[in-house]
Amino acid sequence: MVEEAKGAVAGQDLDVCHDCGLLQRVSKPPPGGAARCGRCGALLIQSRVDGLNRSLALALAALVLYLVAMAYPFLEVRIQGQPIATTLPAAVLSLHEANYGLLAGLVGFTAVVVPGTVTLLLLYVLVPLKIGRHAFKAGHLFGWMRRLVPWGMVDVFFLAVLVSIVKLAGMAAVIPGAALWAFLLLLLTLSGALAALDPEEIWTRLGSPATATVALRPERPIVCPNCRLLMETPRAAQGQRLACRRCGSPLHRRKPESIARTWALVIAAFILYLPANLFPIMRVTSLGREQADTILSGVRYFIEHGDWPLALVIFVASVVVPLTKLVILIFLLVSVQRRSRWKPKERTRLYRLTEVIGRWSMVDIYVVTVLVALIHLGNMASVEPAAGAVYFAAVVITTMFAAMTFDPRLIWDAVEEHRESRQPD
Ligand SMILES: [Zn+2]
Ligand SMILES: [Zn+2]
Repeated sequence: MVEEAKGAVAGQDLDVCHDCGLLQRVSKPPPGGAARCGRCGALLIQSRVDGLNRSLALALAALVLYLVAMAYPFLEVRIQGQPIATTLPAAVLSLHEANYGLLAGLVGFTAVVVPGTVTLLLLYVLVPLKIGRHAFKAGHLFGWMRRLVPWGMVDVFFLAVLVSIVKLAGMAAVIPGAALWAFLLLLLTLSGALAALDPEEIWTRLGSPATATVALRPERPIVCPNCRLLMETPRAAQGQRLACRRCGSPLHRRKPESIARTWALVIAAFILYLPANLFPIMRVTSLGREQADTILSGVRYFIEHGDWPLALVIFVASVVVPLTKLVILIFLLVSVQRRSRWKPKERTRLYRLTEVIGRWSMVDIYVVTVLVALIHLGNMASVEPAAGAVYFAAVVITTMFAAMTFDPRLIWDAVEEHRESRQPD
């Protein structure tokens, strides 16, 4: 038996929190307001004023800036009068030519492919909506756009270029190119376009309002992790995959085998972390003298040159962030396995932290990319990538997947189990 949830037509009346799994009544916030989970404080609905128009305008600007950022050089160096400039796609290509295809693929995906695809998908959905039409498969592509967003790292790349400028200043004259400013503006417009977006407004305009359909006994509703549509849990045949009918994302009441998979990824990341720090991430040849740079020797270089702020940035991004993330995930895994009821709200907050910080560890990988692309003058001066960079990139990716695989609702399941066992009906 299924019944339309009463009053759930205009705003989303019933909602399941994506972080703690609590089913609750949520009234649509006024324009510009937000609705938060009553139990863990997660952001459930963020309402925006004039979201469609603002997001569309910013996405159009982002597209132009993206083209400028990719087509023009972001840095030029002059070593003994010889100018070398590079664009981002050319820098990716130079990693590929140095036989580091895996690294080239990762940098190309996060800094070139994802920002471009997100911008195009956003325009693909928003432009037809503006003139009252629906693009083909708009709902699914909008869903894909939202799943791609965490993998776009224009902001981290921009920081890496700033770090590279300081590093290069020691050996060459550095001239910022047009694309560097385009990157900064792209970063601002694209994140602005995503922030201005009111997903509920877009879904409603796409003809899929957030009408909640909940089973009569609403203890087992399921919420789409991507578009937040609330559905009754369909009875799936064994082995059948469930997909959200609005955006096509796979649906699970809890992420499948969350604990085992997160443990596997955390252990893999710890193992990879050793060669990532022991092996050099790049080799610098200068006037016939070769020097290998590890992550930590890069930090030491900045300290020796008195660049304390940069030493701190690299140390935090490359050493503190991955280790903190792994320690937090292990703590959460152990606490969930022991069915701990200790401070669930604080543990959920720790989880959110691991989701946000991980991407910043990519900064050293981008620095290697920039240096390899700009310094190649044969024996006089050249920078080559080295094996440590591949291991380090693998650490960043495995820890990002580990955070995505962990299901924070498990933290709250133990709390609920305890409450239910104390209230036999
Ligand atoms: Zn919650
Ligand atoms: Zn969905």
